[in-house]
Amino acid sequence: MAKVLVIGAGVGGATAAALLAKAGHEVTVLEAHIYPGGCAGTFYYQKYRFDAGATLAGGFHPGGPHDLVGRLLDISWKVHPVNPAWVVLLPDRSVTQYADPEQWHAEAARAFADSPQRAQIMRFLRAVARISDATWDFAARRPAWPPAHLGDLLRTAGALRPKTLITLPHLFETVGGWARRSGISDRAALTFLDAQLLISAQTTSAHASALFGAAALELPRKGVTHPEGGIGGIAEQLVEAVRRFGGQVIFRQEVTRLEVKEGKVVAAHTNKGARFECDLCIANLTPWDLARLLGDHAPAALRHETRTRAEPWGAFTLYLGITDDPPLALDAEHYQVIGSYDQPLGEGNSIFMSFSARGDLRRAPAGHRALTISTHTHLDEWWRLRETPGAKAAYDERVARYAERLLDLAERAVPGLRSRIRLQLPGTPVTFQFYTRRHRGGVGGFPFTSIFKARGPWTGLANAWLVGDSIFPGQSTAGVTMGALRVVDEVLRAYPVAARRTFSTAAR
Ligand SMILES: Cc1cc2nc3c(=O)[nH]c(=O)nc-3n(C[C@H](O)[C@H](O)[C@H](O)COP(=O)(O)OP(=O)(O)OC[C@H]3O[C@@H](n4cnc5c(N)ncnc54)[C@H](O)[C@@H]3O)c2cc1C
Repeated sequence: MAKVLVIGAGVGGATAAALLAKAGHEVTVLEAHIYPGGCAGTFYYQKYRFDAGATLAGGFHPGGPHDLVGRLLDISWKVHPVNPAWVVLLPDRSVTQYADPEQWHAEAARAFADSPQRAQIMRFLRAVARISDATWDFAARRPAWPPAHLGDLLRTAGALRPKTLITLPHLFETVGGWARRSGISDRAALTFLDAQLLISAQTTSAHASALFGAAALELPRKGVTHPEGGIGGIAEQLVEAVRRFGGQVIFRQEVTRLEVKEGKVVAAHTNKGARFECDLCIANLTPWDLARLLGDHAPAALRHETRTRAEPWGAFTLYLGITDDPPLALDAEHYQVIGSYDQPLGEGNSIFMSFSARGDLRRAPAGHRALTISTHTHLDEWWRLRETPGAKAAYDERVARYAERLLDLAERAVPGLRSRIRLQLPGTPVTFQFYTRRHRGGVGGFPFTSIFKARGPWTGLANAWLVGDSIFPGQSTAGVTMGALRVVDEVLRAYPVAARRTFSTAAR
């Protein structure tokens, strides 16, 4: 039995912790905040419970990562399917993301009926569905990607099936290249693809890997869900599992320094003056944050990465408590709204909105609903204003301007939304940095441009791994769960436990 220290109870950290506790290791999770979930947490404020970042979760379908973890940990997930997954409001049309494939293809045919490229668009969307099936099928067998050594390569090869072969022509291309090759230049169709990819692959079709992009574009067909009481329910159930299997989760303990001896993490020091010894460490952190905690002990490659890697996106969010009286007439509980075809997405030109379910009294008082609205934003300007002496007014003005932009777009989904607002809280990358401790409030991991550029969980230290959305396959609760499963496999190979409680996380 090894002493496992997990830093952070985000979905990635809590998943790894629970699996290792079940395997028989002595697990301690240190979480800086007062509740788990990080970017997929739900916070309470003045009678409302708001999803802080993530609002929809995929991966609960049979064989999906959350389903697999649920079976391994005896968790019966308290989630309900969301269908339609969301409605996309483009500047001149709506496209509803139905879960049922036939309903979806009929909807796409309707939405792009006026396009001279309608036939090409439909052929492309059907091809995306086929490639997505093969990709999800491959992922369900848990290839050890990216490989660190021959063993990982063999495990990856072992996940291949004849069906996987259809993905080969797309290995090196982007979604945009594939779409163009398929004869698509239609502005509405490409913007639709861009908007879907931005929220799932953190980049648009010109850069998004075709294979990953296909899997991401088909997420609504794999089934998306929302946990009862808020997205934070996923991490809460995982924390219960850690404890059920004998591990401990300690809140309000921010790790401020890692002690390293002979290339291994041996202890963590916290802001409460505590020291926790460990045999191995799993950091639910970004590379920048791990390097900060390691200080002079950060391996050269990690330091190099933090100097050279482009920063991820940030998010600007609005948390709104709204009245549902008179009842909102919604076509779905989640909307994506695009402002203009002529502006880049993000920065308030594209938003995602998620309403709590009507009558969900855990999220809002009777007759009210909790609403989270977010947009992608670059980090630099927020921090420049925050850190420039005397720029507070400019920072506040920027917050107000972004809030108005988000509300302008949100009114397209809900005319008169402003008059329903009873509570309004903004969140910037500075806010995300404060609550999740993520470097400069960067969220969502790295853009998924190529499977050959995927980052693995390695840290350069013999007994420390990263989990979370900085490692393959990246962002989303499903993505970080897959990453955690891979790390747990590696840990169990390096630190086997007594036979009685040993288990393999290999798909059953
Ligand atoms: C606005 C927004 C919308 C999103 N929408 C979706 C969506 O709809 N669906 C979806 O699946 N995904 C969505 N995502 C992405 C998803 O939320 C993340 O990819 C995922 O939750 C990240 O999980 P993680 O394991 O990397 O941990 P994180 O969420 O980063 O959590 C890390 C945890 O570690 C803790 N921590 C950090 N430093 C320390 C320290 N030094 N000591 C102790 N504890 C520490 C933090 O407090 C935090 O709890 C969204 C993200 C954002 C920001």
